[in-house]
Amino acid sequence: MVPAIDGIGMTSRRTRMRLIQRLREAGIRDEQVLAALEEVPRHIFLDEALAHRAYEDTALPIGYGQTLSQPYIVARMTELLMAHKPERVLELGTGSGYQTAILARLCDMVFSVERIKALQDRARERLQLLKTRNVMLRLADGGMGWPERAPFDGIIVTAAPKVLPDELLAQLADGGVLVAPVGETQQMLVTVTREGDSFHTREIEPVRFVPLLGGVVR
Ligand code: SAH
Repeated sequence: MVPAIDGIGMTSRRTRMRLIQRLREAGIRDEQVLAALEEVPRHIFLDEALAHRAYEDTALPIGYGQTLSQPYIVARMTELLMAHKPERVLELGTGSGYQTAILARLCDMVFSVERIKALQDRARERLQLLKTRNVMLRLADGGMGWPERAPFDGIIVTAAPKVLPDELLAQLADGGVLVAPVGETQQMLVTVTREGDSFHTREIEPVRFVPLLGGVVR
């Protein structure tokens, strides 16, 4: 069951503000990103048994062996993406829908792909609860992006591919940015920016994500 938005009562807003303060101290500077993290209730994206831990700066399980990333990583990736002011964004790995909800506050349109139907169903329910309208969800193996909806000004990948597929980079608009964890045991968060036909990769910091997998789980 999805916990109610105000289910944790008064403590939730206060603990949320404490989390924002921690993110500031950790180096997150984009005030719009911080405001989005303050506004979107992370606890509704978790099972009731874990909801009380929603405002700790830690990754938490969402079932099916998947995890909702640590708020610091969500903020960092969103900040890297928003530096390019993208309007149309592709997200690979909807998962709980939390990152999707953050993006929906900051961009015109979010296209999000998930391969596990049960997670997508729950994410949809939560996004509806928040009255999010500018999100389009797709059940598919998103490893190769969403070519029918390309190009995207921003692409954010929330599961780690071993290498970035060229098909995905090709869906980036000119001037756009891709933010993704890449690698197997050693993973690196990277950004790839496109200028015409050239792509510039920048390594940001080591990270740990679940792997990007193939196939759809219905
Ligand atoms: N952004 C999510 C993080 C979820 S974890 C959140 O905020 O909760 C990564 C997610 O990527 C998982 O839900 C997993 O099922 C999904 N995933 C992994 N490989 C995928 C693929 N090839 N296509 C689409 N989704 C994928």
